[in-house]
Amino acid sequence: MSESNTKIVREIRINPIVPTESVLVATARGMRPRKAEERVARDDRLHVETCPFCRGNEDKTPPVIAHWPAEGDWEIRMVENLYPVLGSNPGDGNVNFGLQQAIEGYGRHEVIIDHHHHSVRLHEMSEQHIAMLFGAYRERMEQLYASDNRLKYVLVFKNYGPAAGGSIPHTHSQIIATPVVPQNVHDEVENSRRHHQKYGQCIFCALIDEALSYEATIYDRKSGEIKRKIDVGQYVIERSEHFVAIKPFASRYEWEVHILPLEHAPDYLQAAPELLTDFAGVLKRTMARLDAVLEGAQYNYFIHSQPHGEAFADCGKSYHWHLEICPRTTIPTGFELGSGLFVSTISPEDAAAKLREVVL
Ligand SMILES: [Zn+2]
Ligand SMILES: [Zn+2]
Ligand SMILES: [Zn+2]
Repeated sequence: MSESNTKIVREIRINPIVPTESVLVATARGMRPRKAEERVARDDRLHVETCPFCRGNEDKTPPVIAHWPAEGDWEIRMVENLYPVLGSNPGDGNVNFGLQQAIEGYGRHEVIIDHHHHSVRLHEMSEQHIAMLFGAYRERMEQLYASDNRLKYVLVFKNYGPAAGGSIPHTHSQIIATPVVPQNVHDEVENSRRHHQKYGQCIFCALIDEALSYEATIYDRKSGEIKRKIDVGQYVIERSEHFVAIKPFASRYEWEVHILPLEHAPDYLQAAPELLTDFAGVLKRTMARLDAVLEGAQYNYFIHSQPHGEAFADCGKSYHWHLEICPRTTIPTGFELGSGLFVSTISPEDAAAKLREVVL
């Protein structure tokens, strides 16, 4: 660990892609009145008789949409959501009254049972299984976009553990298809588009290059002391032939990690099976590191990819798909809700070093 990592950091870091999503990094103890999420006792059961998502209980789930593999016993199963947050029937349209506006909640909401084993952590799944899971996401995204051209965004996400809002203990993911592009994807798309117009480069590619090659020593002008030292690869957690896992410099969640393809690619739908096999290895190792450091990671992850529709057709050169992994270790306080500024009590540099130190 370089000496800069042991110093107290107290600074507001601006997210280079979405400046409004910034973070206050304050490693001084005083910022720690927050209650950490409680650890939950580990559930090791492979099969639970009463669980509707376990193999053998197929008649207890809503109608099946698809399963993988196509033949024989299923390993991954996709079903309709019993309690969808969005409806599939377009009704009377939008409602406006006074200054209030409401857009009709039209779209699709589906559940993917990630594994036939009840309680298997992501890093315990085989690489082949993880590749199949991310292939299943890809396949369904493609079908949903093709099924209805009013759908502009298909969001794939996973909530794992009660602290991350996982309400069903059996490991699963969800897919939500909406006629509007979620605001945070929209912000990323628009800001990266502007960056491309100005500098002729994809900001994600530029950030990857920086993470893999940038090195700097910044001195204090008056005292001549080292203010900050940035080592090559300081933010890199994992790397493969085609992917890199990075700890963002302005991470909103203390253990947040992003995985991006090294070669520029805007749309997750373009991810070929060989690429997903390589991706699966990086994700598995990243999750194993997070799980070891956090002694049982509870997290959300989601895929950000180029939205569909005419308004986004030209962002193929400026947008770059990625997976964001957000482990949940603290509960946001009034400071965060009131200011929109997230607080991180560990510096992203220290967090990255700790994740890299895990022996796999
Ligand atoms: Zn189960
Ligand atoms: Zn790029
Ligand atoms: Zn993103």
